[in-house]
Amino acid sequence: VSRPLQSGKVYLVGAGPGHPDLLTLKAAKVLALAEVVLFDALVSGPVLAMAHPEALLIDVGKRAGRKLLTQDEINRLLIHYARQGKIVIRLKGGDPLLFGRAGEEMEALRDARIEFEIIPGITAAVGAAAAARISLTDRRVASQVLFTTFSRESGENWLNWAAITPDTTIAIYMPGAHYSQVAARLVENGIAPGTPCVVVSNATRAEEQVRWLNLAALAEGERLPAPSLLLVGRVAAKKAEHWRESFRPEMFLRDAESKNLSI
Ligand code: SAH
Repeated sequence: VSRPLQSGKVYLVGAGPGHPDLLTLKAAKVLALAEVVLFDALVSGPVLAMAHPEALLIDVGKRAGRKLLTQDEINRLLIHYARQGKIVIRLKGGDPLLFGRAGEEMEALRDARIEFEIIPGITAAVGAAAAARISLTDRRVASQVLFTTFSRESGENWLNWAAITPDTTIAIYMPGAHYSQVAARLVENGIAPGTPCVVVSNATRAEEQVRWLNLAALAEGERLPAPSLLLVGRVAAKKAEHWRESFRPEMFLRDAESKNLSI
């Protein structure tokens, strides 16, 4: 990470799914020196705590559907601080280039001739797969992965149904409170109601919860707290759950501590 002398620079940084150890080393380095951090609601407290103590932290996230700042206002803030010669971070949950409006931000920065760089992050689907111990591309049952989203605004154009085959793993971001609509739409479009499905809430965070269902049960199932993500497809069959409880990732940390390994 080098400090530009004259004009500032904007880093679009992926904060990962929540656990601070899942940040890249590069993200941690830039966070430690940035002067301004514009962050989303999904960025976890422990990740924010890694920012420089004197950094200006600006919450630009959405809460309960209420937008704190418009996209234009966010773009203007990025440009404003960069023009003051500052190192600016646009910190987004997961990976900055997936479902994060980075396209608009990069365009605004290009138009304003502001230097910028992308620091990728672990996207929620990958964090959720790790939490549920599911291989998204298990070659015995899956041949492709689809990262998609469900929102009422996208209406009928939500999914490219032709792309969905029985060996597709579908990762559905932003399911909101619409689990039953998601399930209904999939079934209407020929996905079997018995197709396995996993709901992962707060993947990699202390509040992590995993529910193993199928599409029929998803329609009636309980809502889990946001953020949550749905993984649908044969790879999500419940058999993966059985030994989950007997070997939790924290055991590795305990083992490492008892052997005095520093990790
Ligand atoms: N850029 C982000 C996605 C932003 S959209 C990324 O790459 O992950 C926000 C959606 O991501 C949420 O509605 C939820 O579906 C998902 N999400 C983000 N963090 C999550 C987490 N820790 N656990 C489960 N889902 C998460």
